Amino acid sequence: MILFDKMVFGPVYSRRMGVSLGINLLPDDSKYCNFNCIYCECGWTKNNRSKLVLPKREILKEKLSKRLQKLKGTPEEPDAITFAGNGEPTIHPEFAAIIDDTIEIRDKYSPRSIISVLSNASMNHKPAVRKALQKVEMNIQKLDTGIESTFHLLNQPLGNLTISKVVENLLLFNGKLIVQTLFVRGKYNGQTIDNTTPEEIAAWLPLVKKINPQYVMIYPIERGTPAEGLEKIPEAELKSIAEKVEAEGIKTKVYF
Ligand code: SF4
Repeated sequence: MILFDKMVFGPVYSRRMGVSLGINLLPDDSKYCNFNCIYCECGWTKNNRSKLVLPKREILKEKLSKRLQKLKGTPEEPDAITFAGNGEPTIHPEFAAIIDDTIEIRDKYSPRSIISVLSNASMNHKPAVRKALQKVEMNIQKLDTGIESTFHLLNQPLGNLTISKVVENLLLFNGKLIVQTLFVRGKYNGQTIDNTTPEEIAAWLPLVKKINPQYVMIYPIERGTPAEGLEKIPEAELKSIAEKVEAEGIKTKVYF
């Protein structure tokens, strides 16, 4: 499993972002998330609130400024500054202020870099989070299924979040978002999971249409997953799902 041991990491080459400088707003020695996705590259969620230490806004601001100044004019000057890391970035209580800082620093030292946030769409009920996400160039929100039982099996939200609530909040972006969907199949806890079936697509696609995103990112599992026996969906299958989305007039990108 992969954990990011720094607040600012990389740049790394990413399938979706190009040369990407990462920002981890979660602990640097463990994962912290409000989901427990069975495919999470950071491993299973074992949140320990009593030991929770999150990056400090001021320290992050300084580190990001220094890093961008150092990268300026080099081949590693990032295409993107990406909020990802060891869990869900929007959980950080100062997320909105950190986005403002990041925009300020980016404008000053690396104006060509876009800012992207990879989110699981769980905190969009908070107006401050939504407002911050509307300021970044790539507001990337997870929607792996349109079926409630699959959501609970695949993403395992820790609270009482439902997929209908997730969608209700995604609609508040009025289309200024990118939907990310990971397709996978296998077995978990004795149950079969497959979000590529016709029944799944028939539930997911109308929601995507309703959300009307700038485009949809479709991708398979890439590295090791905490649940064993998950299958990487072949590229041809992903492309066939993408064609169905495109047929609804929504742009789609397949990352394989
Ligand atoms: S939302 Fe992201 S970080 Fe959280 S468990 Fe799922 S894949 Fe991992």
